[in-house]
Amino acid sequence: MIPISKPFLGKEEKRAVLKVLDSGFLAQGPKVEEFEKRFAKYIGAKYAIATSSGTTALHIALLAHGIKKGDEVITSPFTFIASVNAILYCGAKPVFVDIGEDFNINPDLIEKKITKKTKAILPVHLFGYPADMAKIMKIAKKYNLVVVEDACQAHGASIQGRKVGSFGTGSFSFYPTKNMTTGEGGMITTNDKRIVEKAMLLRNHGMKIKYRHEILGFNFRMTDIVAAIGLEQLKKLEKFNKKRISNANYFNKNIKTKGINLPRIKKGYRHVFHQYTIRITDQCPVSREKIIKKLKENGISSAIYYPVPIYRQKFYMNLGYKDYLPMTEILSKEVLSLPVHPALTKKDLKKIVSVLNNL
Ligand SMILES: *Cc1c(COP(=O)(O)O)cnc(C)c1O
Repeated sequence: MIPISKPFLGKEEKRAVLKVLDSGFLAQGPKVEEFEKRFAKYIGAKYAIATSSGTTALHIALLAHGIKKGDEVITSPFTFIASVNAILYCGAKPVFVDIGEDFNINPDLIEKKITKKTKAILPVHLFGYPADMAKIMKIAKKYNLVVVEDACQAHGASIQGRKVGSFGTGSFSFYPTKNMTTGEGGMITTNDKRIVEKAMLLRNHGMKIKYRHEILGFNFRMTDIVAAIGLEQLKKLEKFNKKRISNANYFNKNIKTKGINLPRIKKGYRHVFHQYTIRITDQCPVSREKIIKKLKENGISSAIYYPVPIYRQKFYMNLGYKDYLPMTEILSKEVLSLPVHPALTKKDLKKIVSVLNNL
């Protein structure tokens, strides 16, 4: 079976972990600091703060910006649940804006949802494709809003050469399915020294001086074992991303079935294809369910990211959400993600194309 995603680890990661075990730094230590410096440099941000996951990175990023009960945060309903849960963790209220054909928040619909309570915009760079940061940053500036980017799927994605996570405060995940992994792990990126200081306090029980607790913090630290893996993965990230992009280009060139829409990339945008997501439109003679079945019969995994808009998840409905956002509704019924990860062989790529072209 060709898996939908596959972590790519080698002897370098294994060697690095063993070295940490010998060093005696089992919790947060010098490797975490080195990983933060290297990651910040890669993204083009001044600072980076490592955390235990992408979810905790988002949570801390929002708290560090002072997001709290009574505040509203504008975001996308078409994402992994963690993007939006992070807003709830702060006691704030997620406000959903519909997406565009690129699966990201539609910037032209944001202003209508801004109220006196709006404090932040949380765009998600879904599937590795950058949200329209020019428009989003312009709106944020006009209304004096914080921008926290969910770049958990977009390590290395960029607009005119500027990487996502460097526009607002960035949040990244290193979960095994992502473009680079450490098992569990996360990172915040920022140019603002005050955010660094707050995030560091929040990550470590509000503690700067040992056993002096300034605020209510958490244990959201990364370990040196994790950071050692991250440092090796970061060295390989560009190679991984280039392979993902070349796999996606192959699909874009060769999938020819009527009614299947392929990803489109705006000029100046760099898509790093965390997912290669097609749309099975109503022009397609075969249904999404039948295509999934056919792929499976041929040994190919595929997945629906995401079948249910966040506002229709059970506990969001219990909170009183009643949104019905048309593009989100349509796309959640049409999307299908195909394997695009760097472990795919030429044979795998040909097989995937051949199944889709002979439905
Ligand atoms: C993976 C992911 C997260 C959460 O990251 P974890 O490391 O799993 O906590 C948040 N947002 C998006 C869009 C993600 O894909």
